[in-house]
Amino acid sequence: MNIAVTGDDLVVVRDVGKTFSEAGGLVFGRSQPSVRAVDGASFEVKRGETLALVGESGCGKSTLGRLLLRLIDASEGEIAIDGVDILRLSSNDMRQMRARVQMIFQDPYGSLSPRRSVAKIIAEPLEIFGLVQSRKQRRDRVAELMIQVGLSPTFMDRYPRQFSGGQRQRIGIARAIAVDPQFIVADEPVSALDVSVQAQIVNLMQDLQKSRGFSYLFIAHDLSVVRHIADRVAVMYLGRIVEIGPKRRIYDFPSHPYTQALLSAVPEPDPETRKSRIILKGDVPSPANVPTGCSFHTRCPIAQPICRAERPPLLETASGHLAACHFAKPHPIPL
Ligand code: SF4
Repeated sequence: MNIAVTGDDLVVVRDVGKTFSEAGGLVFGRSQPSVRAVDGASFEVKRGETLALVGESGCGKSTLGRLLLRLIDASEGEIAIDGVDILRLSSNDMRQMRARVQMIFQDPYGSLSPRRSVAKIIAEPLEIFGLVQSRKQRRDRVAELMIQVGLSPTFMDRYPRQFSGGQRQRIGIARAIAVDPQFIVADEPVSALDVSVQAQIVNLMQDLQKSRGFSYLFIAHDLSVVRHIADRVAVMYLGRIVEIGPKRRIYDFPSHPYTQALLSAVPEPDPETRKSRIILKGDVPSPANVPTGCSFHTRCPIAQPICRAERPPLLETASGHLAACHFAKPHPIPL
């Protein structure tokens, strides 16, 4: 493999793209356009960090998360996890890799089999990877995991329907950490939960990360949740990463007009720091028909003729902070 990996990098992504050509079949005799869901994504996730991936729904966040775990195959690009190029692994070797990478799903109702007890759900990855040999060992390990996610082991023979949404998400988290992974993709893990429960789950996810040292790709559309958990933030629009950088830089000095608009919608209790709301015109264009040049030009409040013609590269505006905008200015204010 030819991806440059430093000791700090757990996940390295280079020029990854995904085109869904299944949509290119015939519907009522007419050919359908293919959909470019992810286009040229390049970034790293460091060991023990949380990289948040944000953007409106349909911008390609979930597809990118699934590409990183090879739940779907990339159309092009390279993905290395702990130095291993996963796109070139045989299916047997990828099965072994799955012990090191896990996923927490958005829907705690739909992602747990209703016909399996909690003990069976949590023990499933332990059994797949041969980490428990006897029934007693399995139940002991399930009990430990339930305690770690704040659930009483006395409930292990119950079924998902007997738990609240927050408790079900704890079960999903216990299942994800059972095999001691290095990397977890959490796809909107709290957006289906009540606001009062969201903070508890985010705190649990942070505590587990501190004690176990794994990395998260935390996919979300709610920037107020991301503020609590992210170390760095990547912003996606129509399949492309348009800005990426340390959390404090993204929140205090957003360079891209799209990031500025997303942040202006975040409720800010302090009137001193409240930003005036930027209302974007129109809807997100269809990913089957991405605008030319800068794909944000149809909604950007400061678009110029060059924006329609030329795609802006993702360039550094400060150390570790990159934006894809012809008019993003260097902003080297240290934090
Ligand atoms: Fe707006 Fe142009 Fe920058 Fe795109 S390149 S974000 S259209 S100013």
